Amino acid sequence: METDTGGPSSPPACDLCGKPAVYLERHHNRHLCGDHFIADIEERVRRTLRTVAGILPQDRVAVALSGGKDSTVLLHLLRRLLPRADLVAVTVDEGIDGYREATLRSADANAHRLGIEHITLTFSDLYGKTLDDLAGVQPARACGICGILRKKAINTLARRVGASKIATGHNLDDEAQSVLMNWLRGDRDRVLRRPDEGAGPGLVPRVKPLGGIPEREVALYGILKGLFVELPECPYMHTALRGEVRGILTSLERDRPGTMGRVVEGQRRLSLQLACIPRAARPLRSCERCGDPATGQLCQACRLLDSFSGPGARVSPGW
Ligand SMILES: [Zn+2]
Ligand SMILES: [Zn+2]
Repeated sequence: METDTGGPSSPPACDLCGKPAVYLERHHNRHLCGDHFIADIEERVRRTLRTVAGILPQDRVAVALSGGKDSTVLLHLLRRLLPRADLVAVTVDEGIDGYREATLRSADANAHRLGIEHITLTFSDLYGKTLDDLAGVQPARACGICGILRKKAINTLARRVGASKIATGHNLDDEAQSVLMNWLRGDRDRVLRRPDEGAGPGLVPRVKPLGGIPEREVALYGILKGLFVELPECPYMHTALRGEVRGILTSLERDRPGTMGRVVEGQRRLSLQLACIPRAARPLRSCERCGDPATGQLCQACRLLDSFSGPGARVSPGW
């Protein structure tokens, strides 16, 4: 029994059961033991699944499984919290030398362990080039290029497996970073995006069950559950604006717990208010090259691929 919790050498005790704590929830100033930490995460994700990330019993869910920490935790949590759901794991291999091998192996092992069907699509198959080829001499552009092309690849995979929803492993840190990056870039369209935008024929709706969970809590959950030991980080991670924004937000969160949650919640409220303002519907078009939804003649991915003049950088018609 842990009765002596006040001594200078004693570890802090769980505020719920008195066992040694493994985590301090700084936002609520609450210590939690391993079991209570796991239960807390599962309850919060369950709530998200019931509300904002609604997954219906009849849904076939394509789980975007990169093989990294977040998506590995997502796959396990979805299997655990929705034991009867129709899940299929989909992985996009962007072609990132020295990083992808380990995460692809991990993705396959995790899907196999859970008995979940797993399929992979490579950038080479879909676009005729790897991300390393495309980023080439401009590694600072890698994350931007990858974001657009991976989104399209996951949507392509999801349609191919007949999924009605895509679940991604974005966590609270990712969400807060995206909000701040949109403001820093002055990206009016994204700042003012309404909740229903981004939906349309051909686009499989996306849900983010981990969107309310901080990155370090996702990682700790995975470690406590023994889901991964150590996984490599994407080598392009620190080359982009996102890397800098990540540093700023992490530092703000440390000094002012709850900052990231407030950034995301503020944007969500703005988005909901915008939905109440009447506006003429934007006409939906199809990309002239690949048929995906587009705002102009070409979709964002095809416009991007056009900016690389090299041969082969086209969406393969086979997909
Ligand atoms: Zn406890
Ligand atoms: Zn297109």
